[in-house]
Amino acid sequence: MKLIRFGTVGKEKPGVQLENGSRIDISEFGEDYTESFFGGDGLDRLQNWLEANEKNCPKISDNERLGPPMTRPSKMVCVGLNYAQHAAESGMAVPKEPVLFFKATSAIVGPNDDLIIPKGSEKTDWEVELAIVIGKKASYVSKEDAMHHVAGYVLHNDYSERTYQIEKEGQWCKGKGCDTFAPLGPFIATKDEIKDPNNLNLWLKLNGETVQNSSTSDFIFNVEEVVSYISQFMTLLPGDVISTGTPFGVGLGFNPPKYLKPGDVVKLGIDGLGTSTQTVKAYI
Ligand code: ZN
Repeated sequence: MKLIRFGTVGKEKPGVQLENGSRIDISEFGEDYTESFFGGDGLDRLQNWLEANEKNCPKISDNERLGPPMTRPSKMVCVGLNYAQHAAESGMAVPKEPVLFFKATSAIVGPNDDLIIPKGSEKTDWEVELAIVIGKKASYVSKEDAMHHVAGYVLHNDYSERTYQIEKEGQWCKGKGCDTFAPLGPFIATKDEIKDPNNLNLWLKLNGETVQNSSTSDFIFNVEEVVSYISQFMTLLPGDVISTGTPFGVGLGFNPPKYLKPGDVVKLGIDGLGTSTQTVKAYI
């Protein structure tokens, strides 16, 4: 199943994208894609409900804005430097265990919403990433059991301000949580749709030119390891998002470095998870 949300900002309604690509409004189901939906067997209940009701669901126009495909999660945990070549281009060592940081959930926007360069920023950068959506509360979960706690996957662009992230004192979170820095979607693909999350091509184009083009088979720490590892330090709740890190090809790694400016168009995608496009705008 592919879960979407659509409508104006803050008033999104839940929907489903069907196999033929058309989208239907499932508001009649009576639940949004919240922590209690994922944690309360919502995916199974929705699947059953659709079998009886799909034909009566209103179609969604292709012109409708897509929102993030879940309501605001309790947290968004990100893995840094999870591809060896990206660690090298960042001038950092390959980590011995996953590097973690938080991304402010207020940064989450729809997949095709504009990217706003933060006030005064000169080093706003892109990062295509596979993100995991948690389906079942996870605390001290083993690698072997990790997949039982995954609901599905979603495309994420982990926008990053390199001055705030690296040149200012302290933690990376300063450069990761600016408004619009976390476009999610177009949809959550439930895990049954993705045969092997550790072998997906992912790419990103800047103004039509391919700048990132890799595979999650190059992960240093794979999906099972990342879910298990994070759950040793905090409880992951249903609907939480884990972003698994970006491959080689970010602006920071160019010589000279290349950062986003108003008018740029960023397009990205992952096998089985669709594509998203953000237009870069100045902060006003
Ligand atoms: Zn990242």
